[in-house]
Amino acid sequence: MPDPTPVRLIPLGGLGEVGMNCLAVDCGEDRLLVDCGLLFPSAEAALGVEVIAPDLTFLATGPPPRAVLLTHAHEDHVGALPQLLRKFPDIAVVGTRFTLAVVKEKLKEHGLAPGFREVVARGSFAQGQIEVEPLQVAHSVPDAVGYALRTPAGIIVHTGDFKIDWSPADGRLLDVGRFAELGEEGVSCLLSDSTNAEVPGNSVSEREVSESLARIMGGPLARGRVVVAMFGSNLHRVRGVVKAAVPLGRKVCLLGRSMQQNVRLALDLGYLDCPPDLFVDPEAADHFAPRELVVLCTGAQGEARSALSRLALGEHADVQLDPGDLVIFSSRQIPGNERSVGAIVDRLVRRGCRVLTADNSSELVHSTGHACQGEQRMMIELVRPRSFVPIHGEYRMLEAHARLASSAGVDKRGCVLAEDGDVIELVPGAFASKAAERAPSGRLYLDTRGAGSDVGEVALRDRQLLADSGLLICLCVLDRKSGEVVRGPELLGKGVSGLDDRRLAQAAGAAREALAELAATERTDRASVEEALRRGVRSAWKKGVEKRPMVLPVVIEL
Ligand SMILES: [Zn+2]
Ligand SMILES: [Zn+2]
Repeated sequence: MPDPTPVRLIPLGGLGEVGMNCLAVDCGEDRLLVDCGLLFPSAEAALGVEVIAPDLTFLATGPPPRAVLLTHAHEDHVGALPQLLRKFPDIAVVGTRFTLAVVKEKLKEHGLAPGFREVVARGSFAQGQIEVEPLQVAHSVPDAVGYALRTPAGIIVHTGDFKIDWSPADGRLLDVGRFAELGEEGVSCLLSDSTNAEVPGNSVSEREVSESLARIMGGPLARGRVVVAMFGSNLHRVRGVVKAAVPLGRKVCLLGRSMQQNVRLALDLGYLDCPPDLFVDPEAADHFAPRELVVLCTGAQGEARSALSRLALGEHADVQLDPGDLVIFSSRQIPGNERSVGAIVDRLVRRGCRVLTADNSSELVHSTGHACQGEQRMMIELVRPRSFVPIHGEYRMLEAHARLASSAGVDKRGCVLAEDGDVIELVPGAFASKAAERAPSGRLYLDTRGAGSDVGEVALRDRQLLADSGLLICLCVLDRKSGEVVRGPELLGKGVSGLDDRRLAQAAGAAREALAELAATERTDRASVEEALRRGVRSAWKKGVEKRPMVLPVVIEL
């Protein structure tokens, strides 16, 4: 009997960062992907980069991927599908009903209409040699799944993003029974969500958050409008707020495109049911007294131009906030966004609003959608895998999760701490191991969503430098034949600190001297002239003491 095909797992994103999740699974001629998502730069360090996508160069070698298995509808799992589909238009996009509904709309905006395959939990199907079974999990978006992959190297379980919520808002528990059955059968490798690997204990149930929000909305702080800011895709939370609004006689107004889109989809697909007259159009919102209104909006991460940011600035076309209105931030602050969130809170407080956040409220206003250590351990103990690969997290989170796995009984030799571009080999009867080779992997810094072009690391470094110390243009006109200076050097600065006439004259003088030191032959060589100008100008700034601006020599030959 020939050796069974080894299976290779190649993370292209998500191992080393929270975001841009993408895993390739290679099994002979069969290649599958699990997820293909985006990463968002923090508001302050963006340098014109809108989104970051995984570099998919690796997929150009080897068999083309047949299918991409989507775990759920979050952008960090599905956002880079346009990039993937432009390269591989024939790939089948596999996911549950809600996930596909969200994805279809997004892809339509990009003019993409790939083949879709709708799946249900426990409904297994063959994809080449691999048998795929979706597994129901609980998360902060409806219809999330993990996947069991039956391969020649044994069963691989991928949790996707999950938490173990014993009273989920939609009543859909993580399929504990099925995970345990797979564990009974024998799982060769578990890949599990590490986002909260540093957080002890267990996550709070979404139901508790809903109850708490209902208490706040019925309490003394809710004198005027109640604004709840959150991710539009967190429909469990939307359901909680909507349910609380009905008995209080408040109408619900949705602000922000992703909020409106997600709620409309959820209503269409039956994930939300509420009285039809509950929602009011934003344009009609000012017909209602403040006490009769709940506003659900996006922008809780401090995003500029979001609905919340416009409310805070008093620039929203339809809704104006008044003193006495209550604003609840019902979300986790993504690290890096603290300042922009803080700025919005300040503006709201200046308008006289009362603002509740996870930090200043004794009531619960948010719960994570990701398993904490207690739930992560439970997952490992249910599945009892031979090998364990932590996924979805920054390096320290992956490391903490690997440690947890070994303390939960996984053999240390089977705990593989991998990063993007590592190649993990699975052979039946052995521990998973990292191959010596590495796959190309990296980040594409896109300047717009969807069809954006890659800014590239060099341009980003330039942007960083310009932002840091500004730009000096050094203009010089030379005689083409003799190399004699006809005019200049003249200097023009943008964003350079401490730039006065004295400094400009000094730098121009230094540039002139540097030119004079050139031999006659060098003076007709453009590269030598440019280098001399750059060197001269830079010498006017003390090395290591002052911020030295970027110098751009412009040489014109007459
Ligand atoms: Zn997620
Ligand atoms: Zn995620």
